[in-house]
Amino acid sequence: MKQFTVKTGARSEMTDITDRVRDVLRESEIKSGICYVFTPHTTAAITINENADPDVPRDIIMEMDKVIPLNDNYRHIEGNSAAHIKASLIGASEMVFIEDGKLVLGTWQSIFFCEFDGPRTRKVLVKWTP
Ligand code: ZN
Repeated sequence: MKQFTVKTGARSEMTDITDRVRDVLRESEIKSGICYVFTPHTTAAITINENADPDVPRDIIMEMDKVIPLNDNYRHIEGNSAAHIKASLIGASEMVFIEDGKLVLGTWQSIFFCEFDGPRTRKVLVKWTP
């Protein structure tokens, strides 16, 4: 298993981490298998979505904010319930196939780290299996 950090700059943002994951796999020299990308945080998530138009991640964040408002008489005393809910809806991990030493992703797909309670420094874990 390998890990890297992502420094986020806003309360909510999506960071393309595909190249970071590729760097890890290149070092691993795995040719065929499965790659897992996981974030060990309760207010962040991992997802796969469009990398070409930066408005796609912006729209995702904008609509998530509408569905899960920042303040809504939540009981969680820390005050970041919206971030916890968003993290659970998107999920803490993604799985991607590896073939010929490369991630099998669609042309327009990237792996994104989703911050919902930033800015912070976050961890991403990458593990692979043949
Ligand atoms: Zn909390």
